[in-house]
Amino acid sequence: MEKVVIIKYGELSTKSDNINFFLKTLKDNIDQKLAGIDHNIKYDYGRMIIRTNDYEKVTDKVKEVFGIHEIIVGYLYKSKEIEDIKRNTVDLIANREFTTFKIETKRSDKSYPIKSPEVSRQVGAYVLKNMDNKKVDVHNPDLLINIEIRLSEVLIYFNGERGLGGYPASSLGKGLLMLSGGIDSPVAGYLAIKRGVKIEAIYFDSPPHTSPMALKKVQDLARILTKYNGTIKLHVINFTKIQEEIIKNIPNYYLITIMRRMMYQISALVASNINAHVIINGESIGQVASQTLKSMQVINEAIRMPVIRPVCTYDKLEIIDLAKKIGTYEKSIEPYEDCCTIFVPDHPVIYPDINLVYEYEKLVDFKTLIFEAIKNHQIYTITENETNNPYEDLL
Ligand code: ATP
Ligand code: MG
Repeated sequence: MEKVVIIKYGELSTKSDNINFFLKTLKDNIDQKLAGIDHNIKYDYGRMIIRTNDYEKVTDKVKEVFGIHEIIVGYLYKSKEIEDIKRNTVDLIANREFTTFKIETKRSDKSYPIKSPEVSRQVGAYVLKNMDNKKVDVHNPDLLINIEIRLSEVLIYFNGERGLGGYPASSLGKGLLMLSGGIDSPVAGYLAIKRGVKIEAIYFDSPPHTSPMALKKVQDLARILTKYNGTIKLHVINFTKIQEEIIKNIPNYYLITIMRRMMYQISALVASNINAHVIINGESIGQVASQTLKSMQVINEAIRMPVIRPVCTYDKLEIIDLAKKIGTYEKSIEPYEDCCTIFVPDHPVIYPDINLVYEYEKLVDFKTLIFEAIKNHQIYTITENETNNPYEDLL
């Protein structure tokens, strides 16, 4: 008997037009996730079967892959003799807790001499005869026993565990995540990846007003997200000059509005450069002054690229729960301030006026500053398994 891992992909199977592309992407993502572990993946439209000599590690790893709805351990037997199938089934369920059961049989080997319902019936009868206090329930069984007669083997499996769901990462195009050191934006990134968006990230850094530790924190957060996304390119923009000019020239209560409009403009330009279709950020309605609907409208007005805000309707507590689940929370609450937290004015405008924004933006030559910031931007390639810290020189 050989243990294998079976992967089912519920939502995917409805995407009939481009299913081959989805499956290929999913397979590639799993291959990448299982790098270094002996494995072999075979698939058809219904599911994948992974053969491996380390099924426990494989089961664990595929829990981090989007596009998988169920993860099941299956048992492969060489013998297709009906008597062996009966015995093997009872051996497998001997230690399971259940009262009612149902057997479903499928034959991919159509030449097999016994038809599927008859296999189910015979094995069911054998279970009833050889185990005490068991009953058949075809509608709502405690245990569903699946038997699959394949060309050269028999596969038996039961219910599995839920996978992460969503779509295979990278199968729906690219987005640029505005990644700060906070709690919200990594969660927003995770949710976008879950829907099949491949992300790159952008971070606005303000040295010396922000410490190198703030940048390191963002790099660490990006590294946690690589678990779901694969390698992430992190674009770091030096935002110091723009911020200083804003603080020097713009009335205090419009600082944040204009600062965020500049971040949006730079993000949109970088996004275009890397062929991303959307910007993703961690804005949540009403959380701070820059996130009232009016503020969001005025800030969004700076660009035409669509912005998706996966956590915009979440309460902070819901975001925190998710941050804990995906493993970013502990990192996010480390105390290094990012550029926004340093320059928060006492009374930021809650209902900014777009005409005033236009007037104020004339006070600084933002075009040149944005051009310079983009020209000098740095790109780090963040991979999942970095064991040493290549940014030590920054600390
Ligand atoms: P977060 O918890 O993600 O930091 P926040 O509640 O602190 O969010 P803001 O500071 O208003 O909210 O930022 C809103 C969003 O703008 C962030 O979620 C993030 O997507 C983006 N953002 C803010 N600051 C930066 C930065 N320095 N670099 C990149 N993106 C940023
Ligand atoms: Mg923040």
